[in-house]
Amino acid sequence: MLCLLMAGMPGSVAAAEVRIGVLAWFGNHSAQMHWHGLGSALQKRLPGVGVSLLYLDMVGLEKAVAAGDVDFIITNPGHYVALEARHGMTRIATQKITPGQDSEFAVGSAVIVRTERADLQSLDDLRGKRLAATVEDGFSGWLVIWAELKRRDIDPEEGDVTPLFTGFPMTRIIDAVDSGESDAGILRGCLLEHLIRQGAVPADRYRVLSARDERASCLMSSPTYPGWAFAAARQTPEELARTVLIALLSLKDNDAVLRWGVPADYYPVHEMLRSLHVVPYDFLREHRLEVQIRRYWPIAVTFVVLLLLWLLYTLRVEVLVLRRSRELSAALTARQALEESIETQRQKMEHLSRLSILGELSCTLAHELNQPLATIGNYARSLTRRLQSGKLSEDAVGQAAHEITEQSERAAGILLGIRDFSRKRARQREDCDAGKMVGEIVALFRGMVARAPAIRIVDRLPAEQKTIHVDRLQIQQVLLNLLKNAYDAHSAAEQTSLPIDIILETTDERVRIAVRDHGPGLAIEDRARLFEPFFTTKPDGMGLGLSICKSIVEAHGGQLVAESPTDGDGLSFSFTLPHGSSLHDQQQD
Ligand code: ADP
Repeated sequence: MLCLLMAGMPGSVAAAEVRIGVLAWFGNHSAQMHWHGLGSALQKRLPGVGVSLLYLDMVGLEKAVAAGDVDFIITNPGHYVALEARHGMTRIATQKITPGQDSEFAVGSAVIVRTERADLQSLDDLRGKRLAATVEDGFSGWLVIWAELKRRDIDPEEGDVTPLFTGFPMTRIIDAVDSGESDAGILRGCLLEHLIRQGAVPADRYRVLSARDERASCLMSSPTYPGWAFAAARQTPEELARTVLIALLSLKDNDAVLRWGVPADYYPVHEMLRSLHVVPYDFLREHRLEVQIRRYWPIAVTFVVLLLLWLLYTLRVEVLVLRRSRELSAALTARQALEESIETQRQKMEHLSRLSILGELSCTLAHELNQPLATIGNYARSLTRRLQSGKLSEDAVGQAAHEITEQSERAAGILLGIRDFSRKRARQREDCDAGKMVGEIVALFRGMVARAPAIRIVDRLPAEQKTIHVDRLQIQQVLLNLLKNAYDAHSAAEQTSLPIDIILETTDERVRIAVRDHGPGLAIEDRARLFEPFFTTKPDGMGLGLSICKSIVEAHGGQLVAESPTDGDGLSFSFTLPHGSSLHDQQQD
């Protein structure tokens, strides 16, 4: 540093050279054009001292300050507070933009839009719009409007507004707004008025959004901040600073670059930059993140670990569920197939069982069919004889025809019953008359076993409760089985005089059917095994009849029981069946 202080009169200085660093926004040339007037004016006020202006960009200017290469700087408010914070620069004067203006409220920005844009009336309308600005670190070119938008809860960093940086000169902003490339643009305060005055821009072409003009002489969309600062470096001697300040204040203020006033309060600038977390408060941005990380990392790590564990657990559960579901579905399919096969087997067995009963009764069947056939033959032969002897009367022919018809119908009836009973078909439930169903099976039995004891049907069912909801063929199979067993029991006891009784009555809202015989009955120990498959006491018996009857009755929601009658010999088998119509619904399986 070549400063040699020379005490003495104001306006004189002992330094051989005063180096002033000037922020050059738009290249050295334009800065030189702008500020050379100040250089020469100061030179005049500081005779014997070489006043040199160094035009530098932001980074260059800061480097020069750090290296001690400049004694003073002239820079914008934002940059000044950054250098003040980082390098201890001290402002000695603040620029006034217009004569007589308060230097505290010199700098601001105007957001302009085309006049016809009715949708844009205030800064709040910029949400979702494009906004042209010069450069990202421009004080009045971007930062002051960014801060103003943020105050209104519109944050360009969150994408609420799309900035469009055009660079310098600032007239590019006007071009962008004019062409529609951008919805709005940021101009340094008073530039629009200046251009209108010059005739470069028509007066009614643009509007300023959220215009306020309290303290500034022009329309501003932002608050106003102190003007550019003239600041002394930390190492600059106070005396030199004082001398330069006096020189500055004594300049004639016919030109803006010569218009300097007492140093303004830059606190609002600090506040504004702090709110944006930009230089010199950019540390807040990092700090915020770092602090959060430092403070919350154990929670974050725990959370991530828990999340991973949860994911693993969920994955494992999913895999298990998937595996189990597959197993279950395979088991269900297998079970379904098994059930279908059991059902088919059961149906086959029931069918075989029906055939088996018919088979057991078939030895008597031959005899039963033989009887009508023999009668038919007799009548036919008698007719032939009478015809040969010439004694054939009309009456005899009529009677013979009648008998032949009756006997053949009887034989056909037996065969029809057998065919109906032995047919193969799937299970089906239907409403049918209990008495009629019993009558049919008794007729079939009688047709097949003419020598069977008398069968008495005792129907005690009330008229309105005669309908049952059953698989008719299955229940007839049960009845035929019980009748055959009763017949066998009568034969074993050589009992022919007493009848087999079939009693129909209601009990517990069901129909009860009992078949009672007068056979030898059954010993208590045998009765326990009565319904076991293959239990038989007959030499040619299979022992399957009752076990099948039991499963049929149970499928109808009832129970097949054998009891010794209280009024004498024999055995009584009984079972219950569901009523038809309303009652059967509850009892269907
Ligand atoms: P099967 O008639 O082929 O022997 P069942 O299952 O129909 O087969 O009958 C099993 C056994 O129950 C018979 O062998 C007989 O001992 C006994 N039984 C069935 N009904 C009667 C009855 N009404 N009186 C006495 N014993 C009977």
